[in-house]
Amino acid sequence: MTAKITIIGAGPGGYVAAIRAAQMGAEVTVIEKDNVGGTCLNWGCIPSKVMMITADIMKKFHKSREFGITLEGKVYPDMRGLMARKEKVIQDQAKGILRLLTHHKIRYLRGHGYIKGPHLAAVRQENGDILEVPWDRLILAPGTRPSDMPLFPYDGKKILSSNDALNLREIPESVLIVGGGVIGCEFAFILNALGAKVTVAEAMSRILPLPSVDEDCSKVLGREMKKNKIKFFVNRTVEKIEHRGEKRRVTIGPSPFSDNLSEKDKKPLTEEADKILVCIGRRPLTADIGLETLGVKTDKKGWIPVSENMETNVPGVYAIGDVLGPSGIMLAHVASAEGSVAAENAMGNTKKMNYDVVPGAIFTMPEVADVGLTEAQAKEKGRTVRAESVLFRTIGKAHVMGEISGQAKIVSDPENGKILGVHIVGPHAADLIAEGTLAIQTGCTVKELAETIHAHPTLSEVILEAAFKSLDKSLHG
Ligand SMILES: Cc1cc2nc3c(=O)[nH]c(=O)nc-3n(C[C@H](O)[C@H](O)[C@H](O)COP(=O)(O)OP(=O)(O)OC[C@H]3O[C@@H](n4cnc5c(N)ncnc54)[C@H](O)[C@@H]3O)c2cc1C
Repeated sequence: MTAKITIIGAGPGGYVAAIRAAQMGAEVTVIEKDNVGGTCLNWGCIPSKVMMITADIMKKFHKSREFGITLEGKVYPDMRGLMARKEKVIQDQAKGILRLLTHHKIRYLRGHGYIKGPHLAAVRQENGDILEVPWDRLILAPGTRPSDMPLFPYDGKKILSSNDALNLREIPESVLIVGGGVIGCEFAFILNALGAKVTVAEAMSRILPLPSVDEDCSKVLGREMKKNKIKFFVNRTVEKIEHRGEKRRVTIGPSPFSDNLSEKDKKPLTEEADKILVCIGRRPLTADIGLETLGVKTDKKGWIPVSENMETNVPGVYAIGDVLGPSGIMLAHVASAEGSVAAENAMGNTKKMNYDVVPGAIFTMPEVADVGLTEAQAKEKGRTVRAESVLFRTIGKAHVMGEISGQAKIVSDPENGKILGVHIVGPHAADLIAEGTLAIQTGCTVKELAETIHAHPTLSEVILEAAFKSLDKSLHG
């Protein structure tokens, strides 16, 4: 008999799981309460990068003289045009996903999905009708929503979530961003390039305080923020927001997460901004999907723990993607990989999710990207490592492009030359990291990488140079 697989959520986790399960012969139903594509397509990766591209073009216009172009008149962002383009990109991609679902004969139901009982889900459709959907295996992929600060809830006008920022109809004169993580830093560069005065307050001791991000990358990005007149504070948290007409007066105090603060850091300071953009993380959408009906366990915050094969504590019920929470990796490509693993296992195979070689990409200006271990992580594991960095300013293509800030670092094992980590901050880092990912995935050594001919002039030569340097054979670096 054909296995019935039902999936709640059609983000990059859910729709990929659906396609994989259909390819293996399952009868698949996907339930989605909003547009297909999830946070990634509608409120995350894609719309933020559409804004980033426009921001980047704005920056290039400002440097036009350097490139031998004279511009007459004023260049300014047209937010209506930008938002229209964003919508078009989203709609085109959404149509593509719907076509894929149809092509794979996947039943797509629009509405709020929940567990109704053992082997039974239900969909509350927009007209209020309830439709029951039997399943043999269930995959939960409901994703998340932005976290808010209880003291300063979102109002969509003065206190904004990332969703609001992706819908801006005009660029505010000034913005204070709470949170200097991935999303906060991406918006800092976008809004700065589009003309806003930007300040960032980060509670940890550095911007991009993720264990996977090399500390040098945070430092280089901090320098770029300063060059672009983006003000940022670390070890700081927002204590008070006073609304004074068009302005918000914000008191920024010491962070409760940092110790060893200097006397200066302990003193509160005040900043003024038109809008506050809160980027402090995400919350799981698990409160109303009937988990209690089957006894699917969550932690205190509602994140769903799973085994290596993506199964929850209830046999036959899997969970994937962002709903697994920040102890995992909350990225679109990870959700998709987990979706494939869950689909395979739901079809009776035995696959495990491997998180050792997952690239991360941060679309700041310049971009930051990483894969594998940082120097610090390798040392924590008690490993002796060799870490060699090469600056983009030593690479011809970077000069051609007028983007010479940043560096690439290779972390390797000095005994056998195996590449353990690659960390890049610089132009097109998010694309360049693919080479590092393949290198680590295939167990490549710095010698093998150095023996691989790289095209000239390309940015990829920065990786080649870092490999040469790791063998004490630098050419230019
Ligand atoms: C501003 C921003 C920028 C980002 N940029 C990047 C990036 O550049 N690269 C990257 O890799 N990641 C990025 N991310 C993260 C990425 O968006 C997520 O990791 C990814 O979307 C997670 O996929 P998912 O399928 O687990 O969940 P989601 O994409 O959140 O999808 C879940 C889906 O389930 C639906 N759903 C929820 N509950 C129900 C229900 N009860 N019934 C029916 N449907 C339901 C939701 O409507 C949603 O469509 C970004 C996120 C944000 C917020």
